[in-house]
Amino acid sequence: MADRFLFGTVGSPLSTPQKPGGTPGGILRLRELKLDTLEMAWVQSVRVSAETCATIKATATAAKLALSVHAPYYINLNAQTKELWHAGRDRLLAAARAGYKAGATDIIFHPGSYMKDEPAAANKIAVQRLTEVAAQLKDEGVDAILRPETMGKSAMLGTLEETIAWSREIEGVLPCIDFAHLHARAGDGSFNSYQEFSAALKLVKDGLGKRGWQALHIHLSGIEYGPKGEKKHLPLKEADLKYKELFRALVDAKASGRILCESPLMEEDALVMQKAYRQWLKRKSNE
Ligand SMILES: [Zn+2]
Repeated sequence: MADRFLFGTVGSPLSTPQKPGGTPGGILRLRELKLDTLEMAWVQSVRVSAETCATIKATATAAKLALSVHAPYYINLNAQTKELWHAGRDRLLAAARAGYKAGATDIIFHPGSYMKDEPAAANKIAVQRLTEVAAQLKDEGVDAILRPETMGKSAMLGTLEETIAWSREIEGVLPCIDFAHLHARAGDGSFNSYQEFSAALKLVKDGLGKRGWQALHIHLSGIEYGPKGEKKHLPLKEADLKYKELFRALVDAKASGRILCESPLMEEDALVMQKAYRQWLKRKSNE
C-alpha cells in the first residue's frame, strides 16, 4: 500500500550541511534522507527576502518536497488590546505572504490564550479576527491554508474542538493537529490510546468532511507534561506518547496528509515515525 502521509521536520534537519545551508540546504538534506516535507520554522520573525523565497520555491519544486510555514509564536487571536492584536496579525500576514511566495501551501500558527476571558468570549473574538485575516489574504491572492495549532496547555486557546469549529466557520482555515500537545493538555496521561486517537480523528472527519480530511496536517514528538499541560518536547524514546497506536488509528481511518516531527532529534525521530507508520500500513495490507 502506498504511503498516505508525507513525513518531515519542523525546521531544517540537524544534519543539514553548512553549504548550502539554510532552507534550501534543509530541503536537499530531507530529500537525501527520503523525507518528503519541511515546515519552515519562522518562529521568531519573518525575515526572508523575495529573492530567498524564489530560491526556496525552486529548490522545493525540483526536489518534489512539500512546504509549510510555522508562523512566529507571538500571535494571539485574543490579544487584549488593538495594538497587540495588530502586531500579532501583521506577523501572521507576513508569514503567510512570504510563505506563499516560497511555495508553502499551509501556514501554521499558535492561536493564543484565553487571558482573563471565558472560553466562549475568547472564541468569539478569535473567530472574528481570524475571519478578517483569511479574507485579507484571499483578497491579496495568497492561496495558502491558515492552520491554528492544537495547543498543549489548558490556559491556551486551541482545543481540537475549537480548531474544528473555527475551520467550519471560516473558509481557508483548517486545524494543525499536534497530538503530543493534545496528550499533554489533558495533563493526566490520557489522550494516549488507539480509542482516544480514533475518536479525535472521527471528530475531524465528521466536523470537516472531505476538505479537512484529505490533507491532515499533524505535529508529533515526545512530550513532558504536568497537571497544567506541556512542559517541553522530548525524543520519542524518552516519552510516553503511544505514537505507534496513533499510526494504527491513522492507517485504520485511511487518513492522509503530512506528519511533521517536532522532537529535539528532528530527522532521526521523523525517520522513526515514518518506519513505524509503514509497519502498520504493511500489516494492514496483509490482513
Ligand atoms: Zn507550534
